[in-house]
Amino acid sequence: MATAVSPDVRTKYEAVIGLEVHVQLLTVTKAFCGCSAKFGAPPNTNVCPVCLGLPGALPVLNRKAVEYAVRAAMALNCTMRETSIFARKNYFYPDLPKGYQISQYDRPVAEHGYIDVAGVNGATRRIGITRLHLEEDAGKSMHDGLPDSAHYTYVDLNRSGVPLVEIVSEPDMRSPDEAYEYLTRLKEIILYTGVSDCNMEEGSLRCDANVSVRPRGEQKFGTKAEVKNVNSFRFIREALEYEIERQIETVESGEKVIQETRLYNPSEGKTYSMRSKEEAHDYRYFPEPDLMPLVVDAKWQAQIRSRLAELPEARRQRMITEYGITAYDAGVLTATRSLADQFEEAARSAKNPKRVANLLQSEIMGRLKMRGLAIEQSPISMKGIAMSADLVESGAISGKMLKDLYDFAFERNQDFPAVYEQKKPQQITDTTTIEKMIDEVIAASPKQVEQYRAGKKTVAGFFVGQVMKASKGQANPALVNEILSRKLDA
Ligand SMILES: [Zn+2]
Repeated sequence: MATAVSPDVRTKYEAVIGLEVHVQLLTVTKAFCGCSAKFGAPPNTNVCPVCLGLPGALPVLNRKAVEYAVRAAMALNCTMRETSIFARKNYFYPDLPKGYQISQYDRPVAEHGYIDVAGVNGATRRIGITRLHLEEDAGKSMHDGLPDSAHYTYVDLNRSGVPLVEIVSEPDMRSPDEAYEYLTRLKEIILYTGVSDCNMEEGSLRCDANVSVRPRGEQKFGTKAEVKNVNSFRFIREALEYEIERQIETVESGEKVIQETRLYNPSEGKTYSMRSKEEAHDYRYFPEPDLMPLVVDAKWQAQIRSRLAELPEARRQRMITEYGITAYDAGVLTATRSLADQFEEAARSAKNPKRVANLLQSEIMGRLKMRGLAIEQSPISMKGIAMSADLVESGAISGKMLKDLYDFAFERNQDFPAVYEQKKPQQITDTTTIEKMIDEVIAASPKQVEQYRAGKKTVAGFFVGQVMKASKGQANPALVNEILSRKLDA
């Protein structure tokens, strides 16, 4: 970090951060035409008169885009607006052939939401969401990597007209860590709703940050700078850290922070002035005359709500109760919807779901931590854990054997079923051999036999244990049970 504000000075100030996040919706077609919205097609192949902005072409609203926007808004605890209005946001740019972007302005589809984020000392902080609105993306200018890049800029209009939602937060965040946490939760929630893949490399999640500083205790906001288009959460945290220090330094030296747009350079860890407010756009918003007001009535809202999957926080709470796992592990297991689904599918398919959770916590997590692996990198799948849990449950393998099999699986980087197939104990299924072992155990335990026959049936467990021990865990448990009860009840 280039700036050096001493911790003493730093604590005199408070940062105020608000975030604007653009999320691309995973619709098959674009927002206002039938062109494919798929990423990665050859340049300018997914285009038509509507998204090229040719005169006379009329937009037709994609119903799926509306449903996705509303679903996202519901997941973010927003209040829906039954009637919202599309507006033209006018500006001139090579990647915007129409000369305006269809967006929403004073009447967005949803408002007044929030996300709860983890604050310091386990406290929860509620970050307000001002609004969520639906809009179309612009095309993409390509400045380098092409044969004539030194002389020309190319424009790819495949992205032009792809549906987005813009999610604007309240200026409620007070530190770069909190902003990072907000983005992490936001992304997690959006991924759970399935309306976007939130892939930052492909631009389906983009973030701009507004940041200002003020003396601690001051109510009035300081002058903000906008940091634009930072392409990872880590860079956003770094850019905010730099920007906060830069602004504190500016104020401390008696100068004024200028309201401006700044760009972050990740290789230097610094932000640079891009344009000042005087050059800022006046978008001259006005209602889009080619589109009717968007009406999402109570019935449609109810339909969309019924398709809303369980959200991460609710799922964490339920999993803690249902499987008796810790809050920490619930957090790890719900990091993605797919992981949580896999875990729950495995747990529910097992004879004892709690055992699956316990094995995961005690045996798998420990081994992963030791090797510095993430849970997605575990050689033992959730299904493998469920299978091993059932084997322990039925007494087919001992706890000790299970640990050995897990070690082997991690060493070989193989899943449990494969390892079990190679290493599984040769089961004794020969009834004569088992009968002989049982006779020996019965003969050696006259007191327990007496108790059993006096009606204390729970002693049966003792005999099973003794036989399994005598057979080094290799006797077929079903046969042991069957023969034992026959002999004891005789
Ligand atoms: Zn089109």
